[in-house]
Amino acid sequence: MARFILAIDQGTTSTRAILFDEEGHITGVAQKELQLYYPDNGWVEQNAEDIWMDTQFVCRGVMAQHSIHPSNIIAIGITNQRETTIVWDRATGEPICHAIVWQDRRTAGICEELRKAGLEESFRKKTGLLLDPYFSGTKLRWILENIAGARQKAEKGELAFGTVDSFLLWRLTGGKVHATDVTNASRTLMYNIVEQKWDEDLLKVLGVPASMLPEVRDNSTHFGDATADFIGAPAPVTGMAGDQQAALFGQACFNPGMVKSTYGTGCFALMNIGHEFKESQNKMLTTVAYRLNGQPVYAIEGAIFVAGAAIQWLRDGLGIIKSAAESEAMATSVPDNGGVYMVPAFTGLGAPYWDPHARAAISGLTRGATAAHVVRAGLEAQAYQTQDLMRAMEQDAGYPMSEIRVDGGMVRNDWVCQFIADITSTPVLRPTVIETTALGAAYLAGLHAGVFKSLEDISDNWASDRRFSPAMASKERDVLYSGWQRAVKQVLA
Ligand code: ADP
Repeated sequence: MARFILAIDQGTTSTRAILFDEEGHITGVAQKELQLYYPDNGWVEQNAEDIWMDTQFVCRGVMAQHSIHPSNIIAIGITNQRETTIVWDRATGEPICHAIVWQDRRTAGICEELRKAGLEESFRKKTGLLLDPYFSGTKLRWILENIAGARQKAEKGELAFGTVDSFLLWRLTGGKVHATDVTNASRTLMYNIVEQKWDEDLLKVLGVPASMLPEVRDNSTHFGDATADFIGAPAPVTGMAGDQQAALFGQACFNPGMVKSTYGTGCFALMNIGHEFKESQNKMLTTVAYRLNGQPVYAIEGAIFVAGAAIQWLRDGLGIIKSAAESEAMATSVPDNGGVYMVPAFTGLGAPYWDPHARAAISGLTRGATAAHVVRAGLEAQAYQTQDLMRAMEQDAGYPMSEIRVDGGMVRNDWVCQFIADITSTPVLRPTVIETTALGAAYLAGLHAGVFKSLEDISDNWASDRRFSPAMASKERDVLYSGWQRAVKQVLA
């Protein structure tokens, strides 16, 4: 009998169900767009009921499309947008307000207040995070302070908090299980990733009653069984992880020094740093990569705000390309960048510069510069930004990087992959399954279900579509990279 793993990939803008066979190949995908609400300046919300409805819809849909019988589903894995905060009533299972999405900035004031009280260092040492509205803790506090009756109910133990994974698990199990996994817990500002427990001091600071919190579990374990009405027969949920961590797992980055870098609208890079917690000296985050059999593995996480978005801008803002795909032919139509650099600091610069006021620039223009040079500069910037981030990560980790495993829409561009390998002088590997987030959830679920026997087994299963080896002479690399550094200085100034 054919057996499948059903991966639920609940993202910010859509919910997807992906069926994987026992070889880790994709059998089918179903997807539904998710509505976002912007009720006020800087506020971003979702309806948690929509998330649940869509999850059922796509899971049932993908099974129907491929005539999969419920008994063929051996395990369910969940991966999700991280940090998005949901509070529901334990008795009715109903959310008490809209979900507050990770992008929501309404708690900037709370963060500022905590920072002024001198608490940032304490959060940093315990959670590996910064005091930023991005994370769940201050969102939860906002709900307790602003939704009528919430605080009283919470104190009586009548409310439950969860990130999206936790809410889905609760619904899948018919309200039986209130649990989360350690990667999602590590994004809440409440979970002590060094001691691996909810931190009483931080809960006190945030004013959150411990009774609201889900139990925190390993990433590959029996979380509970989805009830029969979900897909027609009970099915065990055996894998769960936040999206970026799931991608790291899906890229089989199991050894210290291994990096996955996702090039979508923005770029998220995670580097495995092994079993020891290390605080970043470059204002990056330390987070739990995964935990198996009670043993945490940590990662340093860094983000580039603008990656593919720069190519979108060349298309929509500047109008010099018609499609993102066209950028490759255009960039290679000129022999070099002609001294032109683009620093895509449209929304400021992140690690390692951290200048929120910097703005984008195209520099080094001469009369010989053409649209092709500008497009090339936009693509080259991806490699220079990666180099900046990777050097900072290496510094934090104390490990050299061994290779970069890439995914995301932009890595369809072969030229970009090669240029990243050249500028970072590190091999770049592109996997055959680009859906690494869902694949990670499937690997985690399959590991507990016995489809995959071990991490070695998963490493063997992971397959590279293409390896890009560094081929640039070091002198050329140095000249190009110092040109980038000069261009960055101009936007910082
Ligand atoms: P997200 O998940 O953030 O929506 P995707 O992973 O789907 O993003 O990647 C889409 C991004 O990749 C877009 O910003 C687009 O400009 C960029 N992109 C897609 N194809 C190419 C290409 N061939 N060359 C360069 N950039 C590309």
